[in-house]
Amino acid sequence: MKNWGFKISRPRAIDFDTADLAEYSKLVEKVPSAKRCLMCGACTATCSAGNHTDFNFRHSHLMYRRGQFEGLAEELDKCMLCGKCKMVCPRGVNTRAIIYNMRIFLNDMNYKNIES
Ligand code: SF4
Ligand code: SF4
Repeated sequence: MKNWGFKISRPRAIDFDTADLAEYSKLVEKVPSAKRCLMCGACTATCSAGNHTDFNFRHSHLMYRRGQFEGLAEELDKCMLCGKCKMVCPRGVNTRAIIYNMRIFLNDMNYKNIES
């Protein structure tokens, strides 16, 4: 086979027909403004924790929405719940409440104890 010096990456497309969106529905029930997020990243750009760590709310929210919970609890631990992201969100998303509730739900699913 000819070696072209590059390879095609595996696609990151998510099949929403097979993804379990039940957990995200629970989150939206608690924080309805979550539905308004358009993944613009303004929250991430102004994040206090992002100045000192690689924490990225937009990414964490997206992973939760897709039902990809592995490593998420550790990520969310980096947030200080300062609320700056909520102030800059152009869609009025209650980011702070999303993070807080994601922590609780992940704990309920035994991804990590929020006390640890
Ligand atoms: S700033 Fe608001 S709309 Fe933009 S990614 Fe963050 S939560 Fe979503
Ligand atoms: S509440 Fe968390 S995600 Fe939002 S700006 Fe503060 S540290 Fe960042």
